Amino acid sequence: MNIQKNRVVSLSYTLTLANGEVADSTTEQDPFVFIHGIGQTLEAFDRNLEGLKAGDSFEFLLSAEEGYGVSDAEAVVSIPASVFQGPDVPEGILQVGNMIPMQDQMGNPLHGRVVSFNDEVVTMDFNHPLADQSLNFTGTIVEVRDASAEELDHGHVHGPGGHHH
Ligand code: ZN
Repeated sequence: MNIQKNRVVSLSYTLTLANGEVADSTTEQDPFVFIHGIGQTLEAFDRNLEGLKAGDSFEFLLSAEEGYGVSDAEAVVSIPASVFQGPDVPEGILQVGNMIPMQDQMGNPLHGRVVSFNDEVVTMDFNHPLADQSLNFTGTIVEVRDASAEELDHGHVHGPGGHHH
């Protein structure tokens, strides 16, 4: 069975950056499982896997534009330090390079990286940590199957590697 839209794909992969750093990986024993072609992964990631079947290996390179985008200067913002004070804020959370879970004005979760801080202002970068990076993916297809009607309805995989509910 070949990979195409609305099929459930299990695969192992290693994501390597241009500097050789391994940013992420999964194994064939504990694969990444997703529904192909519905936006669960990067569009270019889906496209490069189309037509492959179980046992096939793959290697492809995505540009930063195909990956997590190029960084946007407007996504680097100054926030009053008072936001990071109070009983709910873990002590020592303000460290340069720290990723801090936050939310935007609409309440959507997003992560910011601390660029710098002083007593008044914290500068945070909300660009994706992998912005500006070309992404080299290598791996092996473990399994391809049709998604169930329920999985397509929910927009995620059920069972091993997916949701249990
Ligand atoms: Zn579900």
